[in-house]
Amino acid sequence: MLQYPNLEQALKYHFGYDNFRPGQRQIIEDALQNRDLMVVMPTGGGKSLCFQLPALIKKGLTVVVSPLIALMQDQVESLRNNNISATFLNSSLNAYKVRSREEAILQGKVRLLYVAPERLLSERFLPFLDLVHHQIGISTFAIDEAHCVSEWGHDFRPEYRQLKSLRKRYADVPLTALTATATDRVRSDIIQQLGLKQPSIHIASFNRQNLYYEVRTKSKSAYAELLELVREIDGSAIIYCLTRKKVDELTFKLQNDKVGALSYHAGLSDEERSQNQTRFIRDDVRVMVATIAFGMGINKPDVRLVVHFDLPRNLESYYQESGRAGRDSEPSRCTLFFNFSDIKTIEWSINQKTDPQEQLIAKQQLRQVIDYAEGTDCRRTIQLGYFGERFPGNCGNCDNCRYPKPVQDWTIEAMKFLSCVARCQERFGMLHIIEVLRGAKTQKILQNKHDQLSTYGIGKDRSLDEWRMLGRSLLHQGLLEQTSDGYSVLKLNALSWEVMRKQRTVSLAVPIAQKMSLVEGSEKAIEAEILLQRLRSLRKQLADAQSVPPYVVFPDSTLKLMAQAQPQSLNEFAKLSGVGSHKLAQYGKKFLTEIKAYRQEQGKPQVKEYSTDSIAFKNLPTDTELVTLRLHQEGLSIAEIAHKRNLSPSTILNHLSKLMEKNQAVDLNQLVPLEHQQKIWQVLEVLGDISLTPVKEQLGENYTFDEIRLVREKWRRENRS
Ligand code: ADP
Ligand code: ZN
Repeated sequence: MLQYPNLEQALKYHFGYDNFRPGQRQIIEDALQNRDLMVVMPTGGGKSLCFQLPALIKKGLTVVVSPLIALMQDQVESLRNNNISATFLNSSLNAYKVRSREEAILQGKVRLLYVAPERLLSERFLPFLDLVHHQIGISTFAIDEAHCVSEWGHDFRPEYRQLKSLRKRYADVPLTALTATATDRVRSDIIQQLGLKQPSIHIASFNRQNLYYEVRTKSKSAYAELLELVREIDGSAIIYCLTRKKVDELTFKLQNDKVGALSYHAGLSDEERSQNQTRFIRDDVRVMVATIAFGMGINKPDVRLVVHFDLPRNLESYYQESGRAGRDSEPSRCTLFFNFSDIKTIEWSINQKTDPQEQLIAKQQLRQVIDYAEGTDCRRTIQLGYFGERFPGNCGNCDNCRYPKPVQDWTIEAMKFLSCVARCQERFGMLHIIEVLRGAKTQKILQNKHDQLSTYGIGKDRSLDEWRMLGRSLLHQGLLEQTSDGYSVLKLNALSWEVMRKQRTVSLAVPIAQKMSLVEGSEKAIEAEILLQRLRSLRKQLADAQSVPPYVVFPDSTLKLMAQAQPQSLNEFAKLSGVGSHKLAQYGKKFLTEIKAYRQEQGKPQVKEYSTDSIAFKNLPTDTELVTLRLHQEGLSIAEIAHKRNLSPSTILNHLSKLMEKNQAVDLNQLVPLEHQQKIWQVLEVLGDISLTPVKEQLGENYTFDEIRLVREKWRRENRS
């Protein structure tokens, strides 16, 4: 066994990290004791390190079983970038390559071997493995994605079942099983199916602290909101839709709005799919619009936003899919858009199922998703509760905790609603009841003489959506029932009568239109943005030269540290988290040169002055912004500047608002009519500094997002000073 003064030093030397993530150290210690292990950690928890570091310390070869070729390649590339000798064997290799890799293994040159289960257990491979075992030793079998062994999991693979034979054939080699599966049943199945011997079991919390969870109403402005979300983030986004058609439509719209987006769904050829995936992983495009088919086999750690533009099938899938955001632990956002007609669509498709048992499960799962979406508790409490983990709430990082919805007393409305159900003799669905309340003159109302009921027209003061919200909530709170025969007829129950008799009050959490941006101004201000962009493009260049994804070179977090600390020597550079011995040697100088060049251009002293300068240079316009400014000062409109510079109007607009932010002489009167300026100003005074959508909602159709954005910039400036 290799000796290190301590595990932290080994971690820093090989991987560049200063500290272990929760759980990692204990797991690694157990692994070094040759114990069987069962490791359950959420996506992004840092499972790989749990077998990678022991593989470097223990004698012999660590064999990693992994189901997907793409994942294997990805991990091997990342390891090699840390100068760790790892390799994989799979069907993509020709016989010659396989031979030479096998030779390298037998010469003891390889620390980690990645292999698919079907190859591992093949007649041809097992004798080779025996040889390895005999000559250089096998330190561990690490079974990644171990839930594939269980029929109760979401990704059962029969080949995984055969892995049990490893236990018999190599009784002295410890097994480590790893999974992100949250359910108990699958966990115990894994232990049994793989034949783990008194395993040390580590279950990490499923709370992903860095993820901001929010649910938004999918209203008419949903697309505009989505666009704003995508434009706001500095990095990649995945947007999930239910159908191929919706995926294609949304991709098209985004492309039209000059957002680099591609689609991914089963309707594309294998080649197109893998091409799009690669372009996304390599940061050639920022946005992937996809059906849920996308994401299983990818490992991209720097996804900053995952949007569900349609409802997920169940809460577990929502957790897993949204969990593809922020694997690198950087702040990231998970947004779910939701409205009642989506529920209807899903209910309809559930009713098409022929197996009653399946139907029942699907309905229950839908109910849970709706509970989550409509819930007013901390989103984490609801999600983690679903996995049996208790979370006290008040996380400070979900919409419900940050912007609690005011609870209002809707007892009177509820009484009106329920008595209308009673008057209609419990024979109609929600929409009809609402139409009666609102005094509509539909065929159905006239035919049934419902315009003669005492409840007819008593609810004109509330909108259709408000009544719907109430109706849903009554169902949700169990104060009303609905038949499940496909007609969704509303029925009263004992509790409904209590409400009508005024024995029970009804309160409702009313959503407010306030969606704050993820990145707060101050946080952004201290970041050396301009330098960060330069470091990003250097990273991209270095990555492209080796045909690897940029995050393999350095994770986002390390780039940010570089931009903040602006190291000026290799010594300082080595201290950054994410810089290990090998990356220091391979990339250190290149990044230092870039930082130095930048500092020189900015006229900064070559001896560091930390605090103030990162704010100061943020206020200097970039070259491209200056060109826009000149044209603006010549009197050209946004469209004219865009045309002249062959850039999109939104880019020009962005320049102008940046220029305003940087105190440059932008003439707002030239861009927004005075009368509009005044109106927007008034709304901002009332609503405060919030995102554009609610402001626009207040102002209506005649105002553009661009106008609001520009005025908001001016307003911000004046309110700051
Ligand atoms: P999982 O397989 O559990 O989803 P990974 O093993 O892919 O997670 O790790 C997720 C990310 O976290 C990777 O980018 C990895 O490099 C990083 N990481 C792992 N351990 C640490 C650590 N101790 N400190 C900082 N980053 C870490
Ligand atoms: Zn919360």
